[in-house]
Parts: sequence; structure tokens; C-alpha cells
Amino acid sequence: MADKFDVIVIGGGPGGYVAAIRAAQLGLKTACIDSFTGKDGKPAPGGTCLNVGCIPSKALLDSSKHFYHLQHDYEAHGISTKDASIDVPTMIARKDGIVKKLTSGVTQLFKGNKVTYYHGKGNLSAGKQVEVTPVDGSGPIQLEADNVILASGSVSIQIPNVEMDDEYIVDNVGSLDFDTVPETLGVIGAGVIGLELGSVWNRLGAKVTLLEALPGFLAIADKDISKQAAREFKQQGLDIRLGTLVKGAELEDGQVTVTVEDKNGESALTFDRLLVSVGRKPYTEGLLSDDSGVQLTERGQIQVDEQSRSTAQGVWAIGDCVRGPMLAHKASEEGIAVAELIAGKPAHIHFDTVPWVVYTDPEIAWVGKTEQELKEAGMEYNVGSFPFAANGRALAGGQGTGLVKMLADAHSDEILGVHIFGASASELIAECVVAMEFQGSSEDLARIIHAHPTLSEAVHEAALHVERRAIHRGN
Ligand code: FAD
Ligand code: NAD
Repeated sequence: MADKFDVIVIGGGPGGYVAAIRAAQLGLKTACIDSFTGKDGKPAPGGTCLNVGCIPSKALLDSSKHFYHLQHDYEAHGISTKDASIDVPTMIARKDGIVKKLTSGVTQLFKGNKVTYYHGKGNLSAGKQVEVTPVDGSGPIQLEADNVILASGSVSIQIPNVEMDDEYIVDNVGSLDFDTVPETLGVIGAGVIGLELGSVWNRLGAKVTLLEALPGFLAIADKDISKQAAREFKQQGLDIRLGTLVKGAELEDGQVTVTVEDKNGESALTFDRLLVSVGRKPYTEGLLSDDSGVQLTERGQIQVDEQSRSTAQGVWAIGDCVRGPMLAHKASEEGIAVAELIAGKPAHIHFDTVPWVVYTDPEIAWVGKTEQELKEAGMEYNVGSFPFAANGRALAGGQGTGLVKMLADAHSDEILGVHIFGASASELIAECVVAMEFQGSSEDLARIIHAHPTLSEAVHEAALHVERRAIHRGN
């Protein structure tokens, strides 16, 4: 007989594990099934984010940032750093330790909240019946539930004629585990992963070339931000080639030859390693039996309504496997909302205020609309901006690059978007998200006291600048 739960969550990434914990907090008998196995062969709930995404990439970004600053910025402080070197295996082991701590933490959270965890692959069939195939090879386990939450995440997109071998031609997983710094690294796609992981290896000494098919750099960001960011990243040594479509790659004698097409026609480039980061797609392999009643969209996403209900009664879906941005915090918030809806509580997600962060140095962060989106929509707006070069704290910390740009409705002054390129942009954006959630105006932020000296004063000054009353810049 099948074990019965109130809620079964399939997938234990930041969507699934958070949904399971919240459901259990609300008194629901909950199970979470996740198939991820760590590098040590042990169960590792936490999904892409904790194992091969957000966290390990930030660990390597942090190590490589120290190394880069040591070589480029410490002399100005009078600190001598001759003969600095990087031991890649130590850096990777540090990253692995952080991942292990966090995935073990999820296991502990499951125990603490009385979530039953299965290390296996879940398959949903009609009537919310779920079969678990354990990773350890033991026999299948039958479960059933009143509600099932699908949170199976995403995997890298592969492109034709570029076959990954997980050593020389890799995706995010392989590039988080290089054993040495490659002399040359090709990156297909100058998107979020290409920029973050390209930066890691560039800072450690690799010559990194980003091959981007689109003619514009980081088209999803506000144009003023992407323009400054491109200039800065080129200065840091990233060779960003726009309008360059990758047609194929061949591995021979430990060298990867990439065929590209740009405005000059076809040519070949050779690299020691190649990172493929051309986007991600929903992962639903083996998740659904034919009779599950769950429909997919033509893009392979699980079809859901605005409250994450799938086409099968009592079956919900969240995170990367459904519509919307593929971001960990978006997945988690959907997980919480669905658990609360199942428990009979009201829940709502405001997709317009999902913040984006690119963890380059300086960081890029934004919330709301870009100026180009407002123009396209024919909206009337005012713009305020403030450069970090005029912020005392930024200068004291050697962080004078970048700006804050704020867009506000020309009539109501409601903030429509904030775009930041600068140090700690990932933290500064939170204030702007709060302001937008409360439908705040630029005047609201302009009248709030910001501590001195802090980077947040740049947000304050950008808000003041919307009405041309910034103090520390010409208006
Ligand atoms: P996932 O995290 O992919 O988790 C899904 C889990 O379900 C996996 O463990 C998978 O093994 C398991 N699973 C799938 N099918 C089954 C099944 N049938 N049975 C059992 N288990 C199953 N986002 C950010 O917000 N900030 C960042 O800084 C950031 N950095 C990133 C860096 C990289 C290199 C990458 C690749 C991604 C990054 N992301 C970042 C995106 C983020 O990782 C995803 O948006 C997030 O992990 C999605 O969460 P999820 O729960 O939907 O899916
Ligand atoms: P992406 O969509 O950000 O960028 C992919 C890029 O590859 C695009 O610019 C695209 O034009 C280009 N491209 C596609 N095919 C190409 C080809 N044949 N030749 C040259 N260029 C080509 O995708 P990603 O960087 O793989 O990241 C996937 C997703 O993971 C992101 O969209 C984001 O949702 C998530 N992510 C988030 C973070 C973060 O929040 N900091 C970090 C990493 C990943």
C-alpha cells in the first residue's frame, strides 16, 4: 500500500525544499523527493542552486576576486603582494566544503521540520500517485498525496555541433571544477553564466573570450548599465565578441577549435577549454507518466496558471520548470506561495518586483522596467542617476566605478525601475525592491535618511536627482 502524505514535493532545489519546509511548518504531512547526489556520492538536496549553481559560483567568484584585487589594487594601499599565486585544488576544495555544509543543512532542516526525504527519482501518475526510484538501487516506493508540487528545475541547453565531454567542452558543472587555470577559455554566450564564470577564470589568469550571437551586450539590462559594464569588463581583460554566432566545436589533442560566424564571415578560434552557457531549459525527464494529466507548453515548461496550478487537479509546479525568470529566489517564493495556498491561506507573487543580480565585479542589479522597456510601452517617465565616483564611501573603498539609475513615473512619481552597476549592487537593490513593493515614489526614497558614509547614499542621491535636486552632483 502507498504511504499517504498531504503534500509530496518532487525536486529539492530552492523551489522544492523551501516549499516542503513551509508546507511542514503549516502542519501538513510532507515528503520531498530529490535525486541530486553530491561529489562525495552522498545525497545532496539543494538542487542546481546549492550544488552546481548560485552557491559554488559565488564561492569561486569570491576566491578569484581576492586574487584579482591582490594583484591589481593592493599596491595603492601600500600593501606589497609580490609572488601571489593561486592553488586551484585548494580553491575548489573550499567551494566543495561550502556546498557540502549547505546541502547537509537542507537535510537537517528536513529533519527539524519533519519533512520525509527520499533520495531518488519521483514519477507522477494519475490520482497523485508518485513512484520513487531510490538512487541506491533499492526497490521502488509507492506514495500518494492530496497535493503534489513539481519542482524539477532546469538543465543547460546544448547547441548543435558542440558536443560536451565534461572535461574540455563543459557547461556550468564542469567549469566549476577545472583542476588548473586554462591558458585560454572560450565561452559561448555572454549571458549571466558566461559573465560570472568567465570572470572567475579571467581573474585567475586565463585569457577569456566570450562569443555572443546577439549584436548588443547584456540586452536584458538597462542600456546605460550594460554600456558601462561592457567597458569595465573589457578593461578587466574579458574579450567580448558580439554578433558572433558559434556554429560548431571540435576537440582534438586537448584543444577545442570553435567555428564562428560574424560580420566578416566564418572563422575558427582555438581554446584550451570551452564553456557552453547559452541558456537553460526546463527539466522534466522521467517526471510524468502518460496519465498524469500535467501538460507541457511548446517550450517544454510545465503549464501553470498565475498561482502555479498545473492542468491536473491538486498538482502544482514552481521554479525553473515553469514560466518566468530562472532565479532561485523566484523559485523559493513560488514554493512558499503554493504551500500557503494548499494550507488555505492567501498568497500572491508580484513578478514585477523580482530582482536580478549579476555577480560580476562590480555587480549589476536591477528591479522593474528598463528605460528601453518604458520607451517601447510609450510611458512618460523621469530619470535620476548618481555615479559611485561621487560617493565618499565608494571612493574610500576603491569602488568608484558605476552608477545608480532610477526611473519614475512622470505623473505619479511611482518608481518603475532601478538599475545599479557598482559595488554591493546585490544588497543595495533590496531597498529599491521594498520601495517598489509598497508602490513608493522617488520622493519617498529621497526623504528617507541614509547613513553616511554608505554606498546606499548613491541610491538616495539618484532618487533626489529624479527631481534634479541631488546634492553631490550637477543637476
Ligand atoms: P533546481 O535548483 O534545478 O532543483 C531541481 C532539483 O530537482 C534538482 O536537485 C534535480 O536533481 C531534482 N529533480 C529533477 N527531476 C526530479 C525527479 N523526477 N525526481 C526527483 N528529483 C528530481 N539564480 C539566482 O537567483 N542567483 C544566482 O546567483 C544564480 N546563479 C546561478 C549560477 C549557475 C552556474 C546556474 C547554473 C544557475 C544559477 N542560478 C542563480 C539559477 C538557479 O540555480 C535556479 O533558478 C534555481 O536553482 C531553480 O530552482 P528549482 O528549485 O526550480 O530547480
Ligand atoms: P542567458 O540566457 O543568460 O545567456 C545565454 C546567451 O547565449 C545569450 O546572450 C544568447 O544570445 C547567447 N547564445 C545562444 N546561442 C548562442 C550561439 N550559438 N553562439 C553565441 N551565443 C549564443 O543564459 P545562461 O548564461 O546560460 O544562464 C541561464 C540562466 O541561469 C539565466 O538566464 C538565469 O536565469 C540563470 N542564472 C542566474 C544567475 C544569477 O541570478 N546571478 C547566474 C547564473 C545563471
